[in-house]
Amino acid sequence: MTDKVNGITLRAVNYKDSDRILTLFTLEKGKITANARGVRKANAKMKQVAEPFCFAETILAEKSGRYTVTEINSFDAFYPIRTDLKKYYAGMTALELTDAILPDGLESASHFVLLVELLKKLAYKSINPINLLVKFFYDVALEHGYSINLASCGRCGTVIEDKVFLSLKDGCCVCEDCKRQGENGFSIDTYKYLKRISEGEIDFEDKESAKNGLRFFAYYFSKVISLNLKCLAMLIDLP
Ligand SMILES: [Zn+2]
Repeated sequence: MTDKVNGITLRAVNYKDSDRILTLFTLEKGKITANARGVRKANAKMKQVAEPFCFAETILAEKSGRYTVTEINSFDAFYPIRTDLKKYYAGMTALELTDAILPDGLESASHFVLLVELLKKLAYKSINPINLLVKFFYDVALEHGYSINLASCGRCGTVIEDKVFLSLKDGCCVCEDCKRQGENGFSIDTYKYLKRISEGEIDFEDKESAKNGLRFFAYYFSKVISLNLKCLAMLIDLP
């Protein structure tokens, strides 16, 4: 039996002499694993699909629940992402988060669109890659039920101006009057940066807050879904 799917390569692990086992995020079947035979040979035809970021239409052969890639038609490899370290680690972090947050086989067209749009912007727009990634974090968290409310105090609804505290349990930020025991404060500048991003404003430069925005989500994902993203740590460490 064969299937045609649209997929993005999230991960590729070497297998046997010249194969790779791919983790593909497909529009039609969600996240799947597929074997790509012979793709590490120098002149391999389907080489592209065995690299992270590749967005392709892929023909899969299925045999007892296992998929093998038999043909690909690549739409975009988002090549420019590989030419810049920040873009590269931002892109890799998005792939890593997608792989970690999606259970096998769960379809999510909206997450798929978010990922394609992010890769396109990383590759072809000159917007700060960290702003793009922070927006992706915010949208993906919302999509998968771990949303964080940044609009105003999650308890009384007032606009937060001076001091801000994070409620991990309720997925919101709160003002000083509403904070409860165990809810830690964080920088108001970081909060204002995150709020701006969450409202869809992404094309501006604020390098220090951007980095703190990454740290915020690294903390948030580690606490809320016990997820420690390796590529994110690399991105934060870049000068
Ligand atoms: Zn309040």
